[in-house]
Amino acid sequence: MTHAHDRALPRAIRQAMPMARDVLEEVAKLHGVCIRPVPLKRLDTHTGKWEIIDVPCGATLDSKCPPCAKRNKQLRKAQCREGWHLDAEPAITPNEANEEQRWLVEFRADYQAQRDAAEKAGDDTAELDAIITGLDEEINAAGMRGNVLGRNTAKRSRSTRRRQDAPDLPKRKMTNTTLGRTFQGAEGKIYRPSLFVTLTLPSYGKVRDGVPVDPDSYDYRRAARDALHFSKLVDRFVQNLRRVAGYDVQYFASVEPQKRLAPHLHMAIRGTLPRAEIKQIAAATYHQVWWPQADEVVFDGDHMPVWQDGTGYLDPATGEVLPTWDQALDALDEDAEPLHVIRFGDQVDVQGVLAGTPDADQCIRYLSKYLTKSIGDALSGGQAKQEHAARMLDALRYEPCSPTCPNWLRYGVQPKGAKPGMVPGRCRGKAHKPDHLGYAGRRILVSRKWSNKTLAEHKQDRRTWVLEALGQADEPTDPHRYVWRPVPAGDANVPPLAVRLLRSVHERQRWRAHLRELEARATGQDLSATEDMGRAA
Ligand SMILES: [Zn+2]
Ligand SMILES: [Zn+2]
Repeated sequence: MTHAHDRALPRAIRQAMPMARDVLEEVAKLHGVCIRPVPLKRLDTHTGKWEIIDVPCGATLDSKCPPCAKRNKQLRKAQCREGWHLDAEPAITPNEANEEQRWLVEFRADYQAQRDAAEKAGDDTAELDAIITGLDEEINAAGMRGNVLGRNTAKRSRSTRRRQDAPDLPKRKMTNTTLGRTFQGAEGKIYRPSLFVTLTLPSYGKVRDGVPVDPDSYDYRRAARDALHFSKLVDRFVQNLRRVAGYDVQYFASVEPQKRLAPHLHMAIRGTLPRAEIKQIAAATYHQVWWPQADEVVFDGDHMPVWQDGTGYLDPATGEVLPTWDQALDALDEDAEPLHVIRFGDQVDVQGVLAGTPDADQCIRYLSKYLTKSIGDALSGGQAKQEHAARMLDALRYEPCSPTCPNWLRYGVQPKGAKPGMVPGRCRGKAHKPDHLGYAGRRILVSRKWSNKTLAEHKQDRRTWVLEALGQADEPTDPHRYVWRPVPAGDANVPPLAVRLLRSVHERQRWRAHLRELEARATGQDLSATEDMGRAA
């Protein structure tokens, strides 16, 4: 018998052998087991026992954890399918929070306390702020709406001149429904037409194979600002769409990168409007960014504002204190121009889709096609592509991504919530990162009354279904049964990752075998759907 350790084996043969640890990861992926599970401590209040439980990482990107990304994609597809052609109004009553949701909010409270303590002690809170931002996203991903802090800032009032409606659009009387019109066919069959719309951004210069023909004249600044504010434009489009349609239009949309690295939008819309009207709405929709100017560089190189406790940032040469964010906004008077105006490009694609047709299925596949890729994944390619991406990142480096972006210092304004240590060009905001290329918003946008279910409920559906298939009742768990706590890094009670992966693979195999047994006895029930199922119990 030979072993990989066998020194007698020629070096080349030994090196050609796969590493067992890598194979384990491959096997885990094949079994749909999360490869980056998060260990949590769970107290079972019924038994008084603490246990370490692995929770799937829940990644949405292939590059982070392919099994979790795949599972998320399947859930999104199910969610998309569920709401597109609804024939009854969804019942929208908030559900009682589940244990995961409660735990997340408790966890969020712990971090808020840590953050507040750090701030009080004058420590850097950037790390904690980043965690809190991530947790807020988790809170939404777990099926909770809004922010734990509620609406934390009053909206600034703007003069009427700055209203952003599109007055030239037709307007129908609003009716209190989320369903579109139906049509009756010759044999009495009811048809429920819906729409699949694709919206793109304008041209920034001629492009061939996704790369600017003349990079020097390509408008990278405009491309960067459009990407940064894209989600606002989508919001405006939906507002206008609803006004024109005259009903509470519901949508399921995904934001994806085009080859040229600009974000674009695919949107499944429930109900239908004339194609020409959709084009008219897209053409009339715009968003103005009422931020201070960011074209004229005030501080650069060695000439940087300095922080003074109790005062804020000031110009070291003159001692003059920089305007705060609110002061800078107040200084935008009636004659001010918006920093940026964003519109869609001319390419608007509108397709009519009927429920339950192969067309509908294809659109759903299209909507989820890039979901497991980051926006920046589109840039893996030849040298020209890499250079294009690098130029885009350069343009994004000093663009302010939000009111709190340190880049405001470069343009002579104190960022909102200014604190010591802010450096222009070193913003940690997602928008500046290669994975995002300006677009830091959500990849999937689902309107509130799309379906009767939240993503968490879609997850619960699958769990219930599998447990039923296994002949176990999915009993409603006592919501107060478990107490969850984070596990400190390096906790000796957590087995090494490899050991946990081995256990998960084993569990999965046992569970699969059990399902197969049932399948053999089953009467034509489709069990293949369980292939994508997450941890069943
Ligand atoms: Zn995972
Ligand atoms: Zn930023």
